[in-house]
Amino acid sequence: MAKTDAEKKRIQSQLAQLPAVDELLHEAQKREFMLRFPRPLVAEQIRGRLDQIKQKVLRENLKVKDLFSHEDFWRVLDEALTELLTPALKKVINASGVVIHTNLGRSPLPSAAIEQIAAVAGGYSNLEYDLELGARSIRYVNVEALLCRLCGTEAAMVVNNNAGAVLLVLSALASGREVVVSRGELVEIGGAFRIPEIVTQGGARLREVGATNRTHLRDYEAAINEETSLLLKVHTSNYRVTGFTGQPEMRDLVALGEKHGLPVIEDLGSGNLLDLKSFGLFGEPTVPETMATGVALATFSGDKLLGGPQAGIIVGRRELVEKLKKHPLNRALRIDKMTLAGLEAVLKYYLDPVSVTEKIPTLRMLTVDRDELKKQARRLQRVIRRSCPAAADLQLKVAAAVSRAGGGAMPMVELASYALYLRVQGRSSDRLEEYLRTRSRPIVTRIVDDWLVFDPRTIFADEYAEIGRACQEFLSL
Ligand SMILES: *Cc1c(COP(=O)(O)O)cnc(C)c1O
Repeated sequence: MAKTDAEKKRIQSQLAQLPAVDELLHEAQKREFMLRFPRPLVAEQIRGRLDQIKQKVLRENLKVKDLFSHEDFWRVLDEALTELLTPALKKVINASGVVIHTNLGRSPLPSAAIEQIAAVAGGYSNLEYDLELGARSIRYVNVEALLCRLCGTEAAMVVNNNAGAVLLVLSALASGREVVVSRGELVEIGGAFRIPEIVTQGGARLREVGATNRTHLRDYEAAINEETSLLLKVHTSNYRVTGFTGQPEMRDLVALGEKHGLPVIEDLGSGNLLDLKSFGLFGEPTVPETMATGVALATFSGDKLLGGPQAGIIVGRRELVEKLKKHPLNRALRIDKMTLAGLEAVLKYYLDPVSVTEKIPTLRMLTVDRDELKKQARRLQRVIRRSCPAAADLQLKVAAAVSRAGGGAMPMVELASYALYLRVQGRSSDRLEEYLRTRSRPIVTRIVDDWLVFDPRTIFADEYAEIGRACQEFLSL
């Protein structure tokens, strides 16, 4: 719509009241903004803010004196600039009870791993340098020896993540040939990692065998031909086929492979090094148990049940691992020095299978007993009560709850737990959940039957006080 002359005049006289960019830059200098923030950012924010005000004058018939005050302008600018310079990737309190939470960064690292990472990250290291020989070496020699010891294999290597490990294995050992996989194991793990697509990406051809619920040894046998490169087993981590089901025993599959000179390779997903059955957890074979069946190679993640940094671990037969090491994809997927430092520290904890469940947070959280969780839930209750002494509308109770191992590992695994349940009379639990999640130190909770649930299983001891403060905050709103 065309503007009338009177209107144009009004707008011009309004805009003339706004300070010029140069003037504001000068003012910013005086207010020492340039000492605290990068100059280009200050200029960008000043222009952006002025533009917003101009648009309001133009479009909404508002007056400059109602839109612009020096005090507000500099306060808003300060907040915007501070926010821009604050790391967006930040610590979150995980009160959800999901231990290996992919969206929240999977496994929290133990202190020794963090110390090792810090020690290596800020300077030079012998990452690829043999200090005795004064010559180049391979970056994962140290973790290779550890992994061989812990998994009972003759060789090992590490890449960026398990998806990369599987892709490397297929590219190096199956490209141009067929890979036999059971139809019950053609899974999608999430984040677009789908076994059929990874096989294709690795340049191999998928040879599906069996049915979704049952695959027999004879199905594998019938599929083997001169084009077959390997038999692939995949852990159906986030998916279960129940009822009338069946897969051949690993030993039988390995024997079949041997008869035809074919390796059996397993993508274990989580790959637990430790027998957690005594904790009533995961009645699944450990990595050393899997390797003892004669599996040629197994791959697993560093940041799932292992409790370490993101990594893809490959263990098994030397001649196969050597092929993987020489493949160009290995260079593209290579693990960095910080990850290696963290992984080495984590693996060293496993040398003592008794203390490891205490030392590695993921294992500690998975194995902590229910009585202890009840105590922790009560402790949190006291902390919150003390932080909010006058809150009559605050309801708290400690009751049974279910925590989970997590989508990154075994989402099906439920862990009996105790949690603190919270609600505030007259307030929506959804809004409280949102408030906690979006504050500057976020707290992730879940809602069960309109109660906000704080699951102590995944809350660290030093986070209780912050939860108390957060509750005090939202009660005073
Ligand atoms: C998690 C998982 C992957 C992917 O591992 P990342 O380390 O996340 O890359 C691959 N296969 C299976 C069976 C998994 O469970």
